[in-house]
Amino acid sequence: MTYGSQLLFIVSEGFSRFGFHNLLLICHFYRQNFLIQISMDPQSAIAQVKRAGLFRTQGLIGGKWMDAYDGKTFEVYNPATGEVLANVACMGKKEANDAIASAHAAFTSWSKLTTAERSKLMRKWYDLLIAHQTELGQLITLEQGKPVAEGYNEVLIGASCLEFFLEEVKHCYGDIIPQTQADRRMFVLKQPVGVVGAITPWNLPLAMALRKVSPAMACGCTVVIKPSELTPLSALAVAELALQAGIPPGVFNMVMGFAPEIGDAFLASPKVRAITFTGSTAVGKMLLAGAAQTVKKTSMELGGNAPSMIFDDADLEVTVKGLMIVKFFNCGQTCISPNRILVQEGIHDKFAAALTKAVQTLRVGHGFDEGVTQGPLINQAALHKIEALVEDAVSQGAKVLVGGKRHSLGLTFYEPTVLVDVTSDMLISSTEIFGPVLALQRFKTEEEAIHLANDSNAGLAGYIYTENLRRCWRVAEAIEFGIVGVNDGLIPAASAPFGGFKQSGLGREGSKYGLDDFLEIKYLCLGNMV
Ligand code: ADP
Repeated sequence: MTYGSQLLFIVSEGFSRFGFHNLLLICHFYRQNFLIQISMDPQSAIAQVKRAGLFRTQGLIGGKWMDAYDGKTFEVYNPATGEVLANVACMGKKEANDAIASAHAAFTSWSKLTTAERSKLMRKWYDLLIAHQTELGQLITLEQGKPVAEGYNEVLIGASCLEFFLEEVKHCYGDIIPQTQADRRMFVLKQPVGVVGAITPWNLPLAMALRKVSPAMACGCTVVIKPSELTPLSALAVAELALQAGIPPGVFNMVMGFAPEIGDAFLASPKVRAITFTGSTAVGKMLLAGAAQTVKKTSMELGGNAPSMIFDDADLEVTVKGLMIVKFFNCGQTCISPNRILVQEGIHDKFAAALTKAVQTLRVGHGFDEGVTQGPLINQAALHKIEALVEDAVSQGAKVLVGGKRHSLGLTFYEPTVLVDVTSDMLISSTEIFGPVLALQRFKTEEEAIHLANDSNAGLAGYIYTENLRRCWRVAEAIEFGIVGVNDGLIPAASAPFGGFKQSGLGREGSKYGLDDFLEIKYLCLGNMV
């Protein structure tokens, strides 16, 4: 069937068989699959984003698009071509302070809206995101490099956070406490904390922005967000759609440029009551220390060093599939990406061979080219880091089964890689790789695997592959990680808590727990009531 006749079939059958809502979902899914098959050049993608009015390069303060006050700009690059995509307003302390003042002014009215009123506006925003999935997905690929199918998917991930929280906030109740004196009545109220400063990374530039602002805005907080200077364009497009949805001026502000200056402005201002950050552990620690000045609430999603524990009794096919999905999502550039692949002796060689075969099917290339599964790394620093880690491992005895070097495409493209005979004392075992390298390390016993997995300051995600139910429980309870996947790959969801133990962070994003970082709890005691 051609695309046209398949679409006709879906539409005619869909109404009767699936109902309208499901039909929309099916068409949507189909559209995505259709879009991933098209090759296009970056220039056409830029033109399409511009035609949709989503190519924004100024900051957003109090509902107005603004240049930097001194007119400075910085360049944003396409990592797949090295070309400059845009010159974006390079803002600093003054603009950040004005954005904070706008958010503070808007808080009074935004926080007083009913949850239903806020949800209605956020639902319009959601609808616009979905309506512009194509242009937004392309914009993500342009500035971040990931295959455009992943770009489209990232829009859905971000939108799902918005949808989850605009619904979840309707179930955010207080409490009534049994009175301690006969004439007292005692209550717990939950109130929005105030202005939130959000700082987001470059790996999922659109989804991370929405993941931060959705719970905050749903509870009645106003936000100033600073996207990564490497990838501000997709977050700016989200800001444009917030305006189009009718989110009132000042509720959602965006500034970018001199990251430390903007960060310091957030930290120093007593008006900013919460800081939410996703990024490196080093910057997270600095922000935590700075937040102490004005005793802010903080939520931190920091680095990981995820173990994948593969036991002799694992299902080989399930394991390879699960590992491939989560490892090569975004070219390995996520904090939940498996970093230490711990493999039990009995299955090791069989598993390494199956994994190598799967890795050889990956296709590295430009995100808009048909069939590409792996884009470039974000920048030269990332490339050099991965080269150094692989070099160090190989110099100490690790063997390369596939990859192990830069890709012939040049720039920051790196070959998907499998290493074996990795040991704990190699740098690659203690460093977050953030790239397409699988480092396999052997173990003998379950106890040894648990010890190896927990032997890290990080505690974000851990994965277990076993067919033994008792082992699954034992190991899942014993490992010190905030997110544990058993026989599965990419497990995050807007409805599930995301966050780490130890130095991987504080607080949880997503799920009903994701509102807590943006709410104050107020104990209200009424005396002389009877
Ligand atoms: P990565 O190494 O993955 O780029 P970073 O922690 O450096 O991670 O960056 C994550 C986010 O933190 C980005 O938006 C970046 O601009 C911001 N950032 C970096 N340094 C600072 C700082 N000193 N103050 C505030 N934000 C910062």
